[in-house]
Amino acid sequence: MLEASNCRVHILEIDAELFKNWLTIHKERAFRSNQIFGWITGKRAEFFAEMTNLPKQLRLDLQSEYEIWSTTVERYQKAEDGTEKLLLRLKDDNVIESVLLREGSRRTICISSQIGCAMGCAFCATGIDGVERNLTKGEIIEQMLRLQLLLKKDERLSHIVVMGMGEPLANLENVLLALNFATSETGLGISARRITISTVGLPNGIIKLAELNLSYNLAVSLHAPNDELRNRIVPANRKIGIEKLLNAADYYFSVTGRRVTYEYVLLSGINDRPEHAKQLSGLLKKRNSLLNVIPYNPVNGLPYQTPDNVTIRRFRQILESEGINVQFRKRKGDKIDASCGQLRRLSQV
Ligand code: SAH
Ligand code: SF4
Repeated sequence: MLEASNCRVHILEIDAELFKNWLTIHKERAFRSNQIFGWITGKRAEFFAEMTNLPKQLRLDLQSEYEIWSTTVERYQKAEDGTEKLLLRLKDDNVIESVLLREGSRRTICISSQIGCAMGCAFCATGIDGVERNLTKGEIIEQMLRLQLLLKKDERLSHIVVMGMGEPLANLENVLLALNFATSETGLGISARRITISTVGLPNGIIKLAELNLSYNLAVSLHAPNDELRNRIVPANRKIGIEKLLNAADYYFSVTGRRVTYEYVLLSGINDRPEHAKQLSGLLKKRNSLLNVIPYNPVNGLPYQTPDNVTIRRFRQILESEGINVQFRKRKGDKIDASCGQLRRLSQV
């Protein structure tokens, strides 16, 4: 006999209007939809049986036709700095990573958008085996809810960064559907201004996102100040070029008014020399942007290393003396391999 769970529909996947139709068929009124989603998001219910203000028959019907969770938690890790990481196993047996970071009153989650990534950045664990598929809307939302379950009752998710595995602009439709859930009042009610989409820099995707004018923050993973070097470490650049990328990012800023962040992962001996800092200053000087410099988190099997402190300080001094708005981020969760794609790789070896 086929197990009931195999036929159930993932409730986080479905459209609210379709769900209202289902309620009508079951002789229930539309407001139940908000009640049910309120239980899942606001009250953090894990089972339909907990939804005590629903009629018993409705709870039973929901239980037999829908499921709240499509993933299972394969592994949970907590670092000394409080960073928590989940490795989630999906229905098709693939695994993805999602992270919760605690900083002061902030509760930031870092979520994945794809299984693997097609962009092939030389230093990144996610891109090593290419892309398997896009994550669905429901799988992206489920990461948010699974991470929310790690919070204490009086804590709330405050920020979302789409900086986990995958290239979000290569799965823009599902990412936007999931973020719409994150911002909506019947979803998580998180302001779009507290949500950041990080991209390798696909100009068409950036322009599309700008035109939707949704107030999300955009982070562009630049990592190199000239095309020769960027072509080497970020192969997607070969067909794009830094100029086209920066023009698209400028357009994003001009349409949305949201200041763009540039990400720059420092790789020892590769992109960390004084001339790189000077070139980078030249690119960003006239732009109203923020530069985030991140020390590399070494990946097993890849030859890249974190620069030493003297090199990092020298790099920083040049940018600061050029008046660049720069911040050097601490590495959070490095002991639990919290960088993109690292835990998943460990699970494969
Ligand atoms: N694909 C998107 C989002 C996921 S990667 C992007 O590239 O922006 C999120 C960020 O982590 C990117 O800036 C990426 O370059 C960086 N990153 C990847 N591997 C890393 C590592 N081992 N150490 C530090 N940062 C890393
Ligand atoms: Fe993909 Fe981002 Fe990793 Fe590059 S850094 S391979 S774009 S996930």
